[in-house]
Amino acid sequence: MRRGTIPGSSGHVRPMRLLGDRGLSAPCDEVTEFGADLAALVEDMFATMYAHGGVGLAANQIGVPLRVFVYDCPDDEDQRHLGHLVNPRLVAADGVSVRGPEGCLSVPGIEAGTPRFDEAVVEGLTVLGEPVRVHGTGFFARCLQHECDHLEGGLYLDHLTGLRRRRALRAARRAPWAVAG
Ligand SMILES: [Zn+2]
Repeated sequence: MRRGTIPGSSGHVRPMRLLGDRGLSAPCDEVTEFGADLAALVEDMFATMYAHGGVGLAANQIGVPLRVFVYDCPDDEDQRHLGHLVNPRLVAADGVSVRGPEGCLSVPGIEAGTPRFDEAVVEGLTVLGEPVRVHGTGFFARCLQHECDHLEGGLYLDHLTGLRRRRALRAARRAPWAVAG
């Protein structure tokens, strides 16, 4: 990605993996090669995220089992956060736990009030292998926690309990994209 270019503008939109896809429930592998293939993956991830109107996307959502995610996400003060993380580690998630609306490009059309910490710090690398530390609050902290979950094979639905969980799972079963059986 050259300075000044719009992320994703040279990328290709890839098919989105949906709830029920096995790759979404398996932990992703560490990235060990920082080359053109990784840069191209990040570009494709931005293109795919923008095409679907998302604020974040993890690599396993397009069927690539690597520890990479991208984001273009506002926080609660409407400050925009744009970037990507390779081999991210959620090093801190604290503050108050806030229940707020959350959705996922792999569970399209469904939202549920999901508890998340109000602050999150993630450390990882850029596509060039340079260390980076990202601090998020509010909705952006929610996004960071959501994407880190994906790379562990998790989904936001895992954080729901009781009636909220039953409702969301029922809506997913009845969704037009749901896999029969
Ligand atoms: Zn998601």
